[in-house]
This record gives sequence, structure tokens and C-alpha cells, in this order.
Amino acid sequence: MAVLVTGANRGIGLALCRRYAARGEHVVACCRRASEALRALPVRIEEGVDVTDPASLAALDARLEGERLDVLLLGAGILRRESLEAMDFEAIAEQFEVNALGALRSAVTLLHRVPRGGKVAFLTSRMGSIADNTSGGYYGYRMSKAALNAAGRSLALDLRERGIAVVLLHPGFVRTDMTGGMGDMDPEESAALLVERIDELTLERTGRFVHARGEELPW
Ligand code: NDP
Repeated sequence: MAVLVTGANRGIGLALCRRYAARGEHVVACCRRASEALRALPVRIEEGVDVTDPASLAALDARLEGERLDVLLLGAGILRRESLEAMDFEAIAEQFEVNALGALRSAVTLLHRVPRGGKVAFLTSRMGSIADNTSGGYYGYRMSKAALNAAGRSLALDLRERGIAVVLLHPGFVRTDMTGGMGDMDPEESAALLVERIDELTLERTGRFVHARGEELPW
């Protein structure tokens, strides 16, 4: 099986590459710049992939000539910390570019390589849930992940006929750079759970918003 991962150089994306590689899958690890940790893995590394840059995605696609991708795992994301008191519309737009448009752009560019029976998994966040928002703030992150959820849901419906399943995955609260090392699990634990969720994904379960531990999350 071939799995393409974005955001592969660190954090949860790196742990996902490690997990898939350990079980012998062919991993195409995409990043802007490879880390030492990524270079140590038995994966195909594709550098220079910025999800906000359509040309870099087109160039990636061209380099993948002849490759079939069974799973697209779109994990590249950013978190900025604007609040009502410190509003920053540029930061909001930036999060939209990466988290919503970047993820959708990556999927749309590479979809033609995904066969019937293939899967698309987005790393979203429960912070994108409107129903679950009880603490406010984080305007751009919440808005961009809610937009990603909307896109993922449409993609699930649009790809059903093509036999491709889609899932929106919340990875848990994971100790990475994004959380400043806070969290209740390590990237390895999250990656193990995420791989289980992707393994169990079928067309019958397409279009769901799920926690890495398996429970369905409210929109
Ligand atoms: P990290 O900050 O550790 O890693 C983010 C990754 O995204 C890096 O590989 C980074 O690459 C990449 N990235 C950022 N911008 C771009 C870009 N423009 N083009 C290509 N790659 C880019 O975050 P996590 O591992 O914690 O998060 C992974 C995903 O999981 C994100 O989508 C995040 O929103 C989501 N998530 C994480 C949670 C957590 O608790 N950690 C909770 C909920 C969701 P570079 O090194 O080049 O910046």
C-alpha cells in the first residue's frame, strides 16, 4: 500500500510516517524541508512541498508520475493565537490558506492518483467543531478547521461514486510543537490510533468527523 503524508517532517505527520513505514508500507513523506528524524526513516521524501503553493503541489504530482496512492493523509497545519483582544486578520487568512485551502488543494491535486478503494484522511481538529466550542477564542484556527470539515464532507459525497472514502480525524491533544509540548498523548500514540481509524475506514463510514480514539464528534 502507498501512503502520502503532508506535514511529514515533524509532529504527528512524522509519527504517521514512522508508523506506516514500520509496517512495511510505501510512504511518500512530503514536507517543506526534511528533518533529521524524517531522513532516518525508510520513506520516499519529497521536499519543497508547500501546501499554500499550487506550483509546488503540481511539481510534486509531476515527480510522482506513475505512482498510485492508496491513502492521502493530509496533516500540514498551523495554529496562531489571535483573540478578541488581539485580533489579527492576516493570521486568520494564513490559517485558512494552510488548514483549509492547503489541505483541499493537496487532495484535489493528487486525487487522480487514488484508485477505487482508496482513502483520503484529513487531520482536522475538534476546535473546528461549532457544537463543541465552549471556550471561544482561536478565531482563525477554529474557522479554518470548520471550513476544512465542510470541504471534507463535500469531498466524501463527491467521491462516493469513485469508490474513495474520506475521513476528518481529530488526532487528540498531542504533545508537539503546535501545542508547545502540552497534551495528553505523544505523537506515536496518536499516530497508532489514527492508523487504526484509517484502516477501518470504508465507504459506509465516509464523511465522518472522528476522534483518534474512535468516537464521532459533533459538527
Ligand atoms: P506541528 O506544528 O508539530 O507540525 C505541523 C506540520 O505542518 C509541520 O510538518 C509543518 O511543516 C507543516 N506545515 C505547516 N505549514 C505548512 C505549509 N504551508 N506547507 C507544508 N507544510 C506545512 O503540528 P502537529 O503535528 O501537532 O499537527 C499536525 C496536524 O494535526 C495539524 O493539521 C494540526 O492542526 C492537527 N491537530 C493537532 C493537534 C495537537 O494536539 N497537536 C490537535 C488537533 C489537531 P514545517 O516544519 O515546514 O513548518
